[in-house]
Amino acid sequence: MTVFRVVAFSLAGLVYGSFLTVIVHRIPFRRSIVTPRSACPACGATVRPFDNIPVVSYVLLRGRCRNCAARIPVRYPLTELATAGLCAGAAVVFSNLYVAAVSAVFLGVLLGLGLIDAEHRILPNAIVYPSFLMFAGLIVLGALLGRPLSVPRAAIGTLAYGVPLLALAFVSPGGMGMGDVKLAGFIGLVLGSLGLRYVAVAAGLGVLAGGIGAIAALVQGRSRKSAIPFGPYLALGAMASAFWAPAIARAYLSRGG
Ligand SMILES: [Zn+2]
Repeated sequence: MTVFRVVAFSLAGLVYGSFLTVIVHRIPFRRSIVTPRSACPACGATVRPFDNIPVVSYVLLRGRCRNCAARIPVRYPLTELATAGLCAGAAVVFSNLYVAAVSAVFLGVLLGLGLIDAEHRILPNAIVYPSFLMFAGLIVLGALLGRPLSVPRAAIGTLAYGVPLLALAFVSPGGMGMGDVKLAGFIGLVLGSLGLRYVAVAAGLGVLAGGIGAIAALVQGRSRKSAIPFGPYLALGAMASAFWAPAIARAYLSRGG
């Protein structure tokens, strides 16, 4: 039943979002995501399990550490809510359960990478490489199980999005970075397995948003040299594509014909 599925995906999304907050705040500093347990950055007190319930604990504690009353950054619960929203969205748009689950996890990875790149201007290999392998495995497994995921299109998608950005990175080393190239290849892999129009829409939206972001940065007077992080734009384009690519592709093609 659809309602049940959306609720289940939302709840799983909250827990997943809680895990993503840990990733976003530890991986850029090369810290372990397993140990130590979550602690208050202000007083160092270990967060107790019942104070670590996504969103709920934040509300109950009124956004403050139980031990020292330091403010808990609001982006923690926001990240959890955003992840829950993305997962719920995946449950709505993908009727096949396996595809919905893979897409939900994919959208969370994009959110995490986008947040890290926006703040630290890096797309950590420690996330990109394992994600690439994991999703390649999930796509192959899904195809073997007869789920509507295409391995050849995943391969084509990886190249179709990754290679042009690789060329761009060589042409303008200041703009596109190797992290962006790897992210594009990863997006092409997963969205390609859904259908190549998803890759086309993600690339179109990502490059468009990145271009607008670059112009905005120029207008604000930031020099051309300070590299604009393209990762968040590529991630946003891919998220929008996962939800709306069929509708966008249809509208685009009907205009042309
Ligand atoms: Zn504290």
